[in-house]
This record gives sequence, structure tokens and C-alpha cells, in this order.
Amino acid sequence: MRPTGRLHLGHLVGALGNWVPLQDTYDCFYFVADWHALTSDFADTGQLTTYTYENVADWIGAGLDPEKSTFFIQSLVPEHAELYLLLSMVVPVPWLERVPTYKEQQENLKDKDLSSIGFLGYPLLQTADVAIYDGRLVPVGEDQVAHLELARESVRRFNKFFGDVLVEPQPLLTSFGRLPGLDGDKKMSKSLGNTIHLSDTPDEVLKKVRQMYTDPKRIRADIPGTVEGNPVFVYHDAFNPDVAEVEDLKARYRAGKVGDVEVKTKLATALNAHLAPIRERRAAALARPGYLKDVLFEGSARARVIAAGTMARVRDAMKITYR
Ligand code: AMP
Repeated sequence: MRPTGRLHLGHLVGALGNWVPLQDTYDCFYFVADWHALTSDFADTGQLTTYTYENVADWIGAGLDPEKSTFFIQSLVPEHAELYLLLSMVVPVPWLERVPTYKEQQENLKDKDLSSIGFLGYPLLQTADVAIYDGRLVPVGEDQVAHLELARESVRRFNKFFGDVLVEPQPLLTSFGRLPGLDGDKKMSKSLGNTIHLSDTPDEVLKKVRQMYTDPKRIRADIPGTVEGNPVFVYHDAFNPDVAEVEDLKARYRAGKVGDVEVKTKLATALNAHLAPIRERRAAALARPGYLKDVLFEGSARARVIAAGTMARVRDAMKITYR
């Protein structure tokens, strides 16, 4: 997770929520990708360390447990950069230029300068992030599948030259698609300002839900409305566990027999119930002096031992070990 802002409901359904059950089955590594944050946000790093702690509080809020998994900060394990550098010697530039997100992001984020070597190389840095732990499975959404394909190809090419050194990672696809934004845009996203943060107060949630985009042709409550693709109902389906209530609201909405205020108030109530235990755990984590720093420093030290072991193996295989 990149510390470029506060985490929102999209992160919860698209990433964090899927990571939680993995902790009981796998030896999981979760990291704050601060170098990856620099690939797009190098000009504005003032909040980076604050977001790091805030985000990790959100992880704990969502149910990730540093007793079960390793939490670390990328830049505290500088071996990631060394493996990235060595991989960059064998991976052709056109492989990175062909990654679909490369052109897409340059098109979409016109206000950012994405012409750097760092931005071009970031899927290869991701390759190093995974390969350095012999990572076998990476829990990702569809948007990251092309990056894992690049990771596998890069590992194969490296192994072709230097022997069977690195492991090819596979995607562990997450089931949830994209959560739309409050404004009806297809993606809830920090850069679009259409988010509900995991750290928002109940009042902020209610206020944001009241202003949500809904079916624009329903200027009065007695006009039949469209449920499909309506973000208010997408959120009801995602967060309201009372299926009977949701079905009743949908039926009355389609028939023009319910006002937006009722639909939205019930959504805000469901969201706040969903967020309540998350808020409680995140507040408890933030209230313990030094706790998050200890978690991240201890986790980074643990990660570094593994990363150093991999790098010794890599240097040996490349015959650049000096004795
Ligand atoms: P980002 O903060 O955009 O780098 O997102 C990090 C990860 O969170 C993405 O790779 C997605 O898996 C997930 N994510 C972010 N926004 C959404 C969203 N609106 N819906 C679903 N998943 C999301």
C-alpha cells in the first residue's frame, strides 16, 4: 500500500478486507511502499511519514494483525533497491513501456510528471519487492495482473542467466471489482476526491452519503429509479448486511415509493456500523505511544534478515560476491 493519502472504502473492499483472512493460512508480508509513493508523488513528500502511520493504523483497524503477519516499511529494507538494480540490468526497457498502466497513468494523471526512470521502473521494483521474499502468491485485483506477468517474465529471464535463483510469483486474485466513487465515477480514488475514509467520523460519513450521486432523473421521490449501477445501491450491496432491508429499498426505489433521504440514511447507518469496529481498533493502535513505530521497525528488521539472505544468494549466483 502506497502512503499517498488516507485509506478509503475502495482500499477496504479491494485490498485490505481480502488480506485479513490470508493471515491464518499464509506467512504474510504487508508493507508500506514509500518508494512507490515517490514514483508519482516525489514533488510532495511532506505527509509521507504521517500517512505511513495513519495507513498502518487503518490496516490494524481493518483486522490485519502484526502478531500474525510481518508489517514493514519498504525503505527500511534497502535490499529491495539492490535487487531492483540487478534486475534492471537484464530486463529490457520495452517490457516496461508495454505494461498497460504505464501509458494509462500518464494519460490519466496529467498534473503529475510521470516521465521519470522511477515511474517507468516501478513494476520492476514491485518484482523485487515480491521476489526478495521468495513470494509465491500476491493478493491483487485485476489492475495488477499485468504487473505480475512482468514479474514472472523478469524472474524467468534472470534465472535463465544465473540459474534457478528467484521464485516466480502468481496472483491470488481478489474477488471484489472496483468500488465506485461517491460522485458515480467508476472508481473511488483519492485523486478524484470521491472517497469515504476509514478514518472519517460517523457525522462525516452521513454528510458524504447525503451528497452522494444517485439516479439523476429522480427529481421527486415518486419517480421510478434505476438501481443497477447506482452507487448508493452498490454500497448497500457491499456494506449493508440486512439483505431484506436492501431488497425492500430496491423494490420501492424502482416503484418510486421511497425517498432518497431514507435510502441514504439507511446506507449511512450500515456504513457506520461496518466502520465502528475498524475505528475502534485504529484509535486504540494510535493511542498507544510508539506502538506503530515498534511494529514497523521490528517487522522491517525481520523482513531485512530474509531480504539479506536472498541478496547473498543472488550475488553468489551472479558471481559478484567478494571474499
Ligand atoms: P492505490 O491507492 O490507488 O494505489 O490503490 C491500492 C490498491 O487498493 C489497488 O491496487 C486496489 O487493489 C485497491 N483499490 C484502490 N481503490 C479501489 C477501489 N475504488 N475499488 C477497489 N479497489 C481499490
